[in-house]
Amino acid sequence: MDDSVRIEGMVFEAAAGGLGGARGEAAAGADAHARAVTPELVEDDLALDRSLRPKRLEDYLGQTKVKESLAILIEAAQARHDVADHILFSGPPGLGKTTLATVVANELGSSIRTTSGPAIERTGDLAAILTNLEEGDVLFIDEIHRLNRMVEEVLYPALEDFALDIVVGKGPAARSIRLDIPRFTLIGATTRTGLLTGPLRDRFGIAFRLQYYTPEELSAIVCRSAAILGVDIDQEGALEIARRSRGTPRLANRMLKRVRDWAQVCADGVITEDVAAQALSFFEVDDLGLDAVDNRILEILCVQFSGRPVGLTTLASALSEDPDTVEDVYEPYLMQQGLMMRTPKGRQATARAWEHLGLVPPEEGR
Ligand code: ADP
Repeated sequence: MDDSVRIEGMVFEAAAGGLGGARGEAAAGADAHARAVTPELVEDDLALDRSLRPKRLEDYLGQTKVKESLAILIEAAQARHDVADHILFSGPPGLGKTTLATVVANELGSSIRTTSGPAIERTGDLAAILTNLEEGDVLFIDEIHRLNRMVEEVLYPALEDFALDIVVGKGPAARSIRLDIPRFTLIGATTRTGLLTGPLRDRFGIAFRLQYYTPEELSAIVCRSAAILGVDIDQEGALEIARRSRGTPRLANRMLKRVRDWAQVCADGVITEDVAAQALSFFEVDDLGLDAVDNRILEILCVQFSGRPVGLTTLASALSEDPDTVEDVYEPYLMQQGLMMRTPKGRQATARAWEHLGLVPPEEGR
């Protein structure tokens, strides 16, 4: 009899190659769209992320409601001497989902294993990851909406009963056995809650949607990062960077680094409001935090299509971009800023967009 252990025909010992691979992959994917304000992770961010990432809940600024709920969840789990419920974080890239996962693990006093949906290609990969966990560990799966269905099926009993259903042997001799795995907390992160299957969503005990940060919250993050990096910045300088960072901490940190370099070379090294504004204009980030691509989108809507509703695919091809990128990366912020709206007929610019481009908005109802 063949003693190899298989899960739905997959070899059990398949390498857990996904562990730790999430970041690299995200970085590679984001390179294609590298621009000053892309909220996705780019190569340059990796070292920056490591040094600036808050480790405890008290260093994690903003998202007050989420933090309060997490603090209760963590305390309750510790009081019960039990693992915490599985947690889902959703929201646009760069808002701090990965950071929160590490913060939760730190607060629980647990180790964290990190992987991502696309990195777990086969059921065996997931089985290897799960069986290598230790009691109480946190497993973080980034981009969890990209897990394939077969892998997801294996995850269900793991989440509910901390068990793996595996098939031993082949053909008529094959039999299914249930293997206990260490109790763990899954933390999933997704930019697209809508793409998560119902059964997977239901298995999370609690779900949080992260919101864009206010300029004041971002300004506090910029000041914290400046202190860690030893950058000389005043309150107004921090607020100017915050205002142009699209409500996103990753961007605020990246802008801070760029402005610091500019201030060193073109000014006296101190970041004031004026220096920050000049530096960011130099990097083509305008006063709403929009870059050339965002402004091009508004131009397409207002000028090229004369303010008429435009379908997503048409907009994406006019921009030479992928529709998913337009939907995930560009649109959320433009809509949040009230510059663009989604109507049943397509995407349309608002009066604010016309004004932002220095154009006169068309008459109402035209
Ligand atoms: P996501 O996983 O949502 O894409 P990350 O967790 O990787 O985002 O966050 C990106 C960077 O932004 C982190 O390296 C961290 O330095 C910073 N950051 C995110 N959220 C916060 C916060 N609430 N307070 C301070 N810094 C933050």
